[in-house]
Amino acid sequence: MVKIYREGELKGKVVGIGVETKSGYKTIMAKKAVVLATGGFAANVEMRSKQVPSLTSDLPTTNHVGATGEGITIAQEVGANTMQMSYIQLYPFADPNNGVLDATAVIPFSGPSAGIVYVNEYGKRYVNEGERRDVCAKTT
Ligand SMILES: Cc1cc2nc3c(=O)[nH]c(=O)nc-3n(C[C@H](O)[C@H](O)[C@H](O)COP(=O)(O)OP(=O)(O)OC[C@H]3O[C@@H](n4cnc5c(N)ncnc54)[C@H](O)[C@@H]3O)c2cc1C
Repeated sequence: MVKIYREGELKGKVVGIGVETKSGYKTIMAKKAVVLATGGFAANVEMRSKQVPSLTSDLPTTNHVGATGEGITIAQEVGANTMQMSYIQLYPFADPNNGVLDATAVIPFSGPSAGIVYVNEYGKRYVNEGERRDVCAKTT
């Protein structure tokens, strides 16, 4: 999807979308509505660091490569508003090279908040392991 069409410029119902295909640009007319399900924006450094400044390019993402937030931008171009984008969270217990979660490290998150201690690069426990993802992500 590269475009969303509304009845009028920045007003009226959404009536369809435009898509880039192997055989060129095509439009698809909506019969009832358009449901936008283009996912998140974790792989878009500019968009995510605008919401949470600490999410800089130093941080690789384990999200899929399509998490570029372009659906959000396309919707904004036709007047959509957004909310709660700053709630994007980091959970620092996956391998940045392949996205696989460290099965041991997620024990506190998925269960009793016990059985493992999180330490920072100096080997010091820095957080209550049962804390929220964004709190666990702050090692300093
Ligand atoms: C490492 C990791 C582990 C996770 N573990 C869990 C878990 O255990 N439990 C859990 O509940 N959640 C988990 N999540 C979160 C979960 O994967 C996401 O919340 C969920 O996939 C979001 O679904 P979605 O359909 O909104 O978006 P997505 O799954 O991101 O799907 C959006 C789709 O839209 C496509 N798209 C984007 N832009 C366009 C465009 N312009 N045109 C056409 N297509 C487009 C994308 O390529 C993608 O295929 C995990 C996430 C990660 C990264």
